[in-house]
Amino acid sequence: MRDESPTPLIASDSRTGFSASSSSISSSSQIAPLTAPDANGTLVDSFGRHITYLRLSITDRCDLRCCYCMDEKTTFLPRAQVLTLEECLRVAAAFVDLGVTKIRVTGGEPLVRHNVVWLLERLAALPGVRELVITTNGSQLERFAPALRKAGVKRVNISLDTLRAERFRTITRVGDLDKVLRGIAAAQAAGFRRPKINTVMMRDSNFDELSDLVRFAIDRNLDISFIEEMPLGDMERARQSPLRSDEAMALLQKHFIFLPSAESTGGPARYWRIPGTSTRVGFISPHSHNFCGSCNRVRVSSRGELFPCLGNSGAVALLPLLRADSTDGTSLRAAIVRAMGIKAKGHDFGHQLDAPQVLRFMSMTGG
Ligand code: SAM
Ligand code: SF4
Repeated sequence: MRDESPTPLIASDSRTGFSASSSSISSSSQIAPLTAPDANGTLVDSFGRHITYLRLSITDRCDLRCCYCMDEKTTFLPRAQVLTLEECLRVAAAFVDLGVTKIRVTGGEPLVRHNVVWLLERLAALPGVRELVITTNGSQLERFAPALRKAGVKRVNISLDTLRAERFRTITRVGDLDKVLRGIAAAQAAGFRRPKINTVMMRDSNFDELSDLVRFAIDRNLDISFIEEMPLGDMERARQSPLRSDEAMALLQKHFIFLPSAESTGGPARYWRIPGTSTRVGFISPHSHNFCGSCNRVRVSSRGELFPCLGNSGAVALLPLLRADSTDGTSLRAAIVRAMGIKAKGHDFGHQLDAPQVLRFMSMTGG
């Protein structure tokens, strides 16, 4: 068989937030030799972590321009460089063949991708997929919620950083808060149980609203997770030191009682319960609580790069394999298996707010 070793990505493309770097794998001391699926056919990385969760970005495009995620003037990828929906499905199927059971569809904004429902229906139908979930900014949800539910999406995460219309416009630069609020209501009306709100905490913006957001979640039977801002991408906006989960918790404890919860949704959030409510409050704390030891996920970007770690630059280009190998998935699966060998032990955000270690934006990798 010809050698189809995946090509490490060392592309330089300032338009897209990718940059050439001698450290495409940023911390070589953390990289162990290549590995293979374990005896049960599941993906295991060099540190013994089982990979069962794929986050699949189906577009880098978005109808918002959140200030922590992308610049106001962003140039998106030429369409030819973006995975087609059929290619997205083939990638997902290869992962499922290798034991992945949970798929999160993300972006960019996944609901701006033409024919997204076509893809979702097929992802949900892949034998072995137990959980198909989606992360959205909610702006298109009013229109899509019933179709998502019908397609087999189990759960919806909706990003919402503020309940104030003007502030929403400032954070997202173009967004309309009302549309998102209607989207949340539509998701619940369509039968999604306990949609989860994702809130990026910003010292210079929404720190004074965290308790209002929890109250909003309680009143509407939603879950909510607070996320420490990650220094992904070299942004116009100067990043402030991230508002840490423990600081947020101290603010929130003035308003609510929190009981620790052992619950997990299979992600990095640590959850708390507020007595007398059904709301779970989570904290995703890449800075203050490193969750890499239990990481079970990898990401595939909209241009088909497999990123074993969000917080490191190591990647494997799947697109050439997809386009060279349209008949069977052997080389694709082999590339995925080999990529487990470059999954770093942990993310590498450090404290480099001005010069981020990871130069691609979250919208590129898929949040
Ligand atoms: N457009 C969808 C949305 O906003 O939910 C899906 C993609 S977005 C990249 C996924 C998640 O990443 C969102 O919850 C967003 O708030 C989060 N995110 C984006 N940039 C981030 C950053 N620099 N640090 C932390 N979270 C970030
Ligand atoms: Fe778009 Fe989501 Fe990034 Fe906001 S966080 S700009 S909604 S991709």
